[in-house]
Amino acid sequence: MLWKNAIATRQIWQKLRRSQKQLFIWGLAIVTGLLVVLSSTGFSWAKPPPVLTINQSHPLPYTLKSWQDSTNSGDYFEQVKLTEVGYLVWSQFPVKVYIDNTQVQTWLQVKAAVKEWSSYLPLQIVGQKEIADIVITFKSPPLRTTNLLRARSALTRYELYTKKVSNSTSVLAHRCTIILSPNQPSKYIKAAALHELGHALGIWGHSTATSDALYFSQVTNPPSLSPRDINTLKRIYQQPTRLGWQVASQ
Ligand SMILES: [Zn+2]
Repeated sequence: MLWKNAIATRQIWQKLRRSQKQLFIWGLAIVTGLLVVLSSTGFSWAKPPPVLTINQSHPLPYTLKSWQDSTNSGDYFEQVKLTEVGYLVWSQFPVKVYIDNTQVQTWLQVKAAVKEWSSYLPLQIVGQKEIADIVITFKSPPLRTTNLLRARSALTRYELYTKKVSNSTSVLAHRCTIILSPNQPSKYIKAAALHELGHALGIWGHSTATSDALYFSQVTNPPSLSPRDINTLKRIYQQPTRLGWQVASQ
């Protein structure tokens, strides 16, 4: 068990170091002040590892608290993957979204997707990329190799960092980047943004039902958010996470 914890902590630490490097490259302020703690792990650390103090749930945002599914449609929570820091839950609202696109029609399509999700989680479109929690950008996502080489139409990734919330306090935080392919019919842009925003808001997995926005593949007539999408989101926000909790400082 200790060994498992040590591995998990090492992975988190490596990821943090990587993201700090990235943040440095991007010229953003980063906060150090990470503390040690796992003793007798057998690893040698280049720097003291972080101690992620707790792994617990945050209070449900009011928007999800008030959500009731009158259709009893169920959810696909079992498809959601646990990350090395727990569930990818936001705890500071509104979550700030930056749309990196100047083409009006495209911008409006993405805005419509943000608006749809904002009924369930407070979101705010911001004009500065530097302060955004989620950046939505347009370029060709990397190719993926399976049996065939095929182009992805979108992807979402997250990275971890420590965020200073006062002179003496830092919390473990994450930020997401959504990459949407500009080479797709406009009717799919909103659907792709809706789907990827679902990942960025915490649904780190896919539905197997075509009627859900988080269905794993593109469909001819993309759906809006379904009760199952929201039921899944609500369950995720009731789960424990290390995100948003204080990282002990030196
Ligand atoms: Zn997906």
